[in-house]
Amino acid sequence: MVKVPDTATPFFEYAPAPESRSIVDIKPSYGLFVDGEFVDGHGRSFKTISPSTEEVLAEVAEADEADVDLAVKAARRAYTRVWSRMPGSERAKYLFRIARIIQERGRELAVLESIDNGKPIKESRDVDVPTVAAHFFYYAGWADKLDHAGLGADPRPHGVAGQVIPWNFPLLMLAWKVAPALAAGNTVVLKPAETTPLTALLFAEICQQADLPPGVVNIVTGAGATGQAIVAHPDVDKVAFTGSTEVGKAIARTVAGTRKKVTLELGGKAANIVFDDAPVDQAVEGIVNGIFFNQGHVCCAGSRLLVQENVADEVLERLKRRMSTLRMGDPLDKNTDIGAINSGEQLKRIRELSEVGDAEGAERWEVACDLPTKGFWFPPTIFTGVSQAHRIAREEIFGPVLSVLTFRTPHEAVEKANNTPYGLSAGVWSDKGSRILWMANHLRAGVVWANTFNKFDPTSPFGGYKESGYGREGGLPGLAAYLKGADA
Ligand code: NAP
Ligand code: MG
Repeated sequence: MVKVPDTATPFFEYAPAPESRSIVDIKPSYGLFVDGEFVDGHGRSFKTISPSTEEVLAEVAEADEADVDLAVKAARRAYTRVWSRMPGSERAKYLFRIARIIQERGRELAVLESIDNGKPIKESRDVDVPTVAAHFFYYAGWADKLDHAGLGADPRPHGVAGQVIPWNFPLLMLAWKVAPALAAGNTVVLKPAETTPLTALLFAEICQQADLPPGVVNIVTGAGATGQAIVAHPDVDKVAFTGSTEVGKAIARTVAGTRKKVTLELGGKAANIVFDDAPVDQAVEGIVNGIFFNQGHVCCAGSRLLVQENVADEVLERLKRRMSTLRMGDPLDKNTDIGAINSGEQLKRIRELSEVGDAEGAERWEVACDLPTKGFWFPPTIFTGVSQAHRIAREEIFGPVLSVLTFRTPHEAVEKANNTPYGLSAGVWSDKGSRILWMANHLRAGVVWANTFNKFDPTSPFGGYKESGYGREGGLPGLAAYLKGADA
């Protein structure tokens, strides 16, 4: 067995490699994007900050019910007069144009996302923005092929889609929602999260640049009440939400008994399962990617490591050694692996649940590192000695905190993995194909990754079982969620 010290001795130091922020032009204040223009709201405004420095970035309008009503009216007009009448091949041209502009302005989008959200530039640059462009390209390709979507000869859009998204992948969640909605002929009113509105507002500028007809996309910024106003608006035909299970349940109650269609993408507590025949170094990379990617602010994060008992010591030793090489700090530094926690509120929640882990008797190990004095930071952390009854094994921490459990047999692994109210994702690490397929058949999770983790592709449907929500985004099911058969 490899013996490693708690903190690996660095072989060399990295020189700072900050990406320049001069490419972004953050305005002192932003209005709402309604009917193709930026307008002042009727309500108040709020500040968005950089979570790595606590610097105020901009003042953003907070849409009230009257603002949401204007946005829905603009979306309805654009739907009736322009967008639903336009041939799919014409809609496709706009979506292709948007996709290309996203690529052209990719560095600007990535830098702005990292500043407003706190995620490392290498993730926003290499994962978020390329996947955003890929979603627009993919659904642009569907816009003139809707009669092949499996819904009959002439499937119809729902009308106006109200969309509410979280802060962990601000631009990517926007793309998951806006691209299929527009391809199918719907118009949208979208609310980004309160802590990360800036890339959605830059996307609004991209819609202007692409000459998208006014009212097809409307962006209304605000907090929970703005989201609630969108969901409850009587002229919204389809609601799409990504966020917490708690708010998802409230939304399900709001739309119950109405004609509104709804898809909910909610929380998760995924098991990442490592068998004794897995290639250990690859599995360790997969564990790190599973829980420390995006500071663990990932609904499908592999937040429960289930490791086969006979290799648990070796896997944990190597995991600790690998974790000690993770670089935490300035999100704009190209060498940074772990950025800032998105908000003070989220940091508080991560700290509280970790303290519950201590109190329940689990053993905490964290990377020894100096945390910046400003901003919101939490070191990569693992808890061992975790039992299924512990809250840190059951509740979503939504931060860089891994709970480690062990198992002896595949049956026990399945029992433990499925012992959760969630069912969004899972990972299996094994050299044996038949075991991987058996596990995939028995795991109650919408996505099962084999010998990899956190891989996203626009062609692949994504969504949950149980309290992780219903409906799928991505691929053909993600398009069908924005369509109804001609007879419906
Ligand atoms: P959240 O509190 O549910 O917020 C999500 C969005 O809903 C935000 O835009 C939020 O606005 C808004 N909102 C809050 N209350 C609302 C209400 N009553 N009616 C309508 N909208 C409302 O979730 P979060 O804490 O920001 O995000 C973390 C959660 O999202 C985690 O549980 C995570 O698992 C889940 N998530 C799931 C997926 C998935 O695909 N399944 C993806 C990402 C995240 P404000 O931000 O302004 O409060
Ligand atoms: Mg922010």
